[in-house]
Amino acid sequence: MRAMPQFTPTRDAGLAQLRAVAAMLGRDYAAGRNTDRGPDAPHPSTSALSPWLRHGLLLEEEAIRAALAAHGSQAAAKFVEEVAWRAYFKGWLEGRPAVWEDYRRQVRHDRDRLAVESGLRRVHDDACAGRTGIACFDDWARELVEQGWLHNHARMWFASIWIFTLRLPWALGADFFLRHLLDGDPASNTLSWRWVGGLHTRGKHYVARAENIARYTDGRYDPSGQLNENPPPLPADDALPPHRVPPPERKPEGRVALLLHEDDLALDGLDLDGLEIAAVAGFSARAGTAVCGCAGPVVEFAQAGLEDALRRAEERFGVTALRLGAGALFGWTTLPVVTPHAPVGPAAAALAEAQVSGLPLFRLRRPWHAASWPHAGRGFFQVRARLPDLLAASGIAA
Ligand SMILES: Cc1cc2nc3c(=O)[nH]c(=O)nc-3n(C[C@H](O)[C@H](O)[C@H](O)COP(=O)(O)OP(=O)(O)OC[C@H]3O[C@@H](n4cnc5c(N)ncnc54)[C@H](O)[C@@H]3O)c2cc1C
Repeated sequence: MRAMPQFTPTRDAGLAQLRAVAAMLGRDYAAGRNTDRGPDAPHPSTSALSPWLRHGLLLEEEAIRAALAAHGSQAAAKFVEEVAWRAYFKGWLEGRPAVWEDYRRQVRHDRDRLAVESGLRRVHDDACAGRTGIACFDDWARELVEQGWLHNHARMWFASIWIFTLRLPWALGADFFLRHLLDGDPASNTLSWRWVGGLHTRGKHYVARAENIARYTDGRYDPSGQLNENPPPLPADDALPPHRVPPPERKPEGRVALLLHEDDLALDGLDLDGLEIAAVAGFSARAGTAVCGCAGPVVEFAQAGLEDALRRAEERFGVTALRLGAGALFGWTTLPVVTPHAPVGPAAAALAEAQVSGLPLFRLRRPWHAASWPHAGRGFFQVRARLPDLLAASGIAA
């Protein structure tokens, strides 16, 4: 088993992991982050904060602040940039929700093909079960299912081999990841798979090479002769819709109810000034992130994280929190309902549906997302070039 941190789904555990890794988020991170040391190494080369960040049990702002405080802006630059990729992908999809819906339609279409194309089904099932005969790929498939986490470089190699060597539909690979990743995230996952295939940055795809895998796995693997190292990118899909991030919503005043969900469970740092929280509820739509449902540990992580947040909310606001089903959000209160902004995904869809039914909903957007998302419509460089300003505008750094 990987000497990974225990992925305990509480805010305290996320903050403890941040404290434990803060000292390595400077030049050590920049120099070592590309190496996947493998399951038997004492520590991964990256922070392994992603399951907590995914559920907002830990905030991107907190991770950035800790790295800056420990190392200063120059030495922490690479880590800060990687965290900013997460906000970039979120903002990109927030402005183009149709890309998420198209992707889900594609998964359903490709699943239908599996039912009738036995050759495709065999390659797909072997890939998911780790039976392709490509040792690194097979190990990563098992690692993903058993541990719910993979190193970033392993994700890139895996996706590339899935698409270009095994010639499997990219959307099925993305869905396989979403089924098992504890950090499985509509934006980061869908757009990373599109990026590997050459759909995100049109015509620029990521090709896994045996030499690169051998180098960055410290020689544990050498798939020489097993990979397609000269593929063209996937054919471009339809023209993208324009990027339109809806403006942040205004905040109500006075007595309100607070509704929590699995995309933002920190509670801290939400702008609740001027509000009297008279009722609290929470729901999880996490199982619906993957088209045919997420694996047990993924759903359990989100539900336990939600419980942790509801307990903290009960203590802070002196109320008993309700646990709601994702399909039953309308009608639990007559108060205006404030909720942390849920980015594109199943929680956002459940909230939108409840709002259409009449739930008086107000989404609270965090300053870091309000500042960064509007700049996420094109390439990452647009966000990276503005990082110092965005960090200052959202109060993360001076
Ligand atoms: C095919 C593929 C699928 C991916 N699917 C997901 C996913 O579903 N959920 C997810 O959170 N990340 C995803 N990633 C991005 C990245 O691999 C993980 O965020 C990272 O491996 C998590 O490990 P860490 O916390 O140790 O990262 P660190 O390197 O320590 O980075 C700190 C944090 O920054 C963010 N981050 C770092 N790199 C990226 C990146 N390239 N894109 C977006 N955010 C990043 C994450 O929140 C991460 O926890 C995917 C990448 C690829 C190539």
